Amino acid sequence: MHAEVIAIGDEITSGQALDTNSRWLSQRLGEAGVDVLFHTSVGDQLEACIDVFQTALRRAEVVITTGGLGPTDDDLTREAIAAATSRELEFNPAALEHIRALFARRRREMPERNQRQAYFPAGAEVIPNPDGTAPGIDLTVEREGGGRSRLFALPGVPAEMKQMWAATVVDAVTRFTGGGRVIRHRAINCFGAGESQIEAMLPELIRRGQQPRVGINASEATIILRIAAEGTSETEALAAIEPTSQLIREKLSSLVFGEGDERLQDVVIQLLEQQGRTLATVEWGTAGLVASWLGDADRARDDATPANGYLGGVVVRSETALRDLLDVPRTTAERHPPENTEIAAAMARACRERFGAHYGLAVGRFPPPGAEAAVHLALATPGGVQTHTHPHASHPAMRRTLCAKVALNLLRLKLIGK
Ligand code: ATP
Ligand code: MG
Repeated sequence: MHAEVIAIGDEITSGQALDTNSRWLSQRLGEAGVDVLFHTSVGDQLEACIDVFQTALRRAEVVITTGGLGPTDDDLTREAIAAATSRELEFNPAALEHIRALFARRRREMPERNQRQAYFPAGAEVIPNPDGTAPGIDLTVEREGGGRSRLFALPGVPAEMKQMWAATVVDAVTRFTGGGRVIRHRAINCFGAGESQIEAMLPELIRRGQQPRVGINASEATIILRIAAEGTSETEALAAIEPTSQLIREKLSSLVFGEGDERLQDVVIQLLEQQGRTLATVEWGTAGLVASWLGDADRARDDATPANGYLGGVVVRSETALRDLLDVPRTTAERHPPENTEIAAAMARACRERFGAHYGLAVGRFPPPGAEAAVHLALATPGGVQTHTHPHASHPAMRRTLCAKVALNLLRLKLIGK
C-alpha cells in the first residue's frame, strides 16, 4: 500500500513558499503505517492538476492533496478532481450552511464566490473543516486494474490541514488500509568519515530490499543513517530497529556520536557535565561558530552557573589580538605564520589557562587558497596539548561549519577516551 502526497499552488512551484504540508503529512502517514512513495508539486493550472491527480490515482492507493480549495479563481482542486475522475460537481446544502455559519461567526457577509466551496465531486464525502471555509473532499475511486484508491483533498492552510488530518483523515486512512501496521524511524548520527566510507563499512545493511531499511544521508559532513522498520505495533517496530541499531553502533564504533536531533555540541556538553569538566575555546577561522554552538547547547549556564560545561571563548582575527588578549608569546606569534601547528597549540594552552578550564580548544587561521592548504586545531588538556591538521579542501560555503565540527569532534573523542 503506497501513498502520494500532492502540494498544489503556484507559491510552491515558483519557489516562493516551502511545501511543509507534504513533509508533515508524510511523517503522519509513516506513523500510520503507510509508505509514501511520491511527493508531487503542481501549480494552479487545471490541466496540470487533472494530469497529476490521474497519475496519482493510478500509482498510489492513498492520495492526499493540500491547497487549492479556496473560493478564488485560482483554486482549482475540486474542478480538477471532478474532471480527473469523470464526475459532476454536485451542490451540498449542508456544506454551504457550514460556510455561511462561519462567516456569520466572523460577523461578515458571505461573498457569492464562496458558494463554490459547497460543490463536491459526485460520490465524495465532506471532510469537516471546523475553523475554515474550505471543507475537504474524501473520494474513493475504482482503479483501472482492479482495487480502489482513496483521495483526500485538504486545504493549504497548515493549521486547518493538520486539524482535519487528526479529526477525520487519520482514522479513515487506517480503516482504508486495514491498519495494523506502523512504521518507525531512528536516525543514527556519525561524524569523522565520508558517506561512501561509512557505506563500505556496512555493506550488508544498506543493500536494497533489506529489512529494516537503512538509508544514508550527509548533512553538512554529519552522516545520518536512517533505520525504518515496520511492525504491527509501535513496540514491535521499535524492537525491529534495535538489532540493526546495535550492529551499526558496533561496526562504526566512535564514529557514532548520537541519535535523532542530537548534535555534536549537545554530546560534548553532556560529556563535560558527566565528567565534571569545563571547556574554553579560542577561534580564528571559525570566527565564533564553535562558541555559538556550545552556548546554544549549554543553556543551563544561562539560568544558573553550573560547575561544569562551557565557560566561554575568544574570537581573534589578527596576530595582535592573539598577543594582546591571550598573551600568546610574541616570539611564537612572530616566528611562525598564523596557520601553523605551534600557534594553534599556543592558542589552546593560553585560553585554557586564561579561563581556568580543564580543556582549551583552538581553531587556527584559515589558510589562503593553495594546494596544500590546511587548518590547524589544538586541544589543551591537563596532560598536554594535542594538535590536529585538517585539510582545508571543502567548498568555501562549508568551511566554517565543517571545521567547527572537526573541533568539537576532537574534544568528543578525547572525552570518550579515543
Ligand atoms: P483557503 O483558500 O481556504 O485558505 P486553500 O486550500 O485555497 O485554502 P491556499 O490558498 O492554496 O489554500 O493556501 C493557503 C495558505 O496555505 C497560504 O498561505 C499558503 O502559503 C499555505 N500553503 C498552501 N500549500 C502549502 C504547503 N504545501 N505547505 C505549506 N503551506 C502551504
Ligand atoms: Mg492556493
